[in-house]
Amino acid sequence: MNDLRELYQETIIDHGRHPRNFGELCDATHHQEGFNPLCGDKLTLHLREKNDIVEQLMFEGSGCAISMASASLMTEKLKGKTKNEIQEIFSAFHEVVTTGDQKNIEKLGKLAVLIGVAEFPARVKCATLAWHTLMAIIAEKAGIVSTEN
Ligand code: ZN
Repeated sequence: MNDLRELYQETIIDHGRHPRNFGELCDATHHQEGFNPLCGDKLTLHLREKNDIVEQLMFEGSGCAISMASASLMTEKLKGKTKNEIQEIFSAFHEVVTTGDQKNIEKLGKLAVLIGVAEFPARVKCATLAWHTLMAIIAEKAGIVSTEN
């Protein structure tokens, strides 16, 4: 378990420092801002959708390692997925990071490294910021997403 924890930690630090899919997306069909005032994490998601499939997903912003790593891993995982598949992965992810329950963890792939945040309720908002921001696009909600409303 210690080796696994170390590997998880390394992945989070790596993605936190060198986020993947970081930057603008000039042919994006959707943009959405998200903010976690408790930690100061801020991000903007850029998404290109075609025929209900998220073809491309990128983000910009700044925040703690957990928020950046979660956004980075999320963009890697969800590219090419349909909205329904994304809903399903979000539910599994949300369950894992809020309860630590491993029942659906195989749906998450590398995102499983964030299971540790279940032990730190304040960090759950960091880990789910990018996801709530994305779900606002999918649900076609307007306005900035805040973890505090
Ligand atoms: Zn944070």
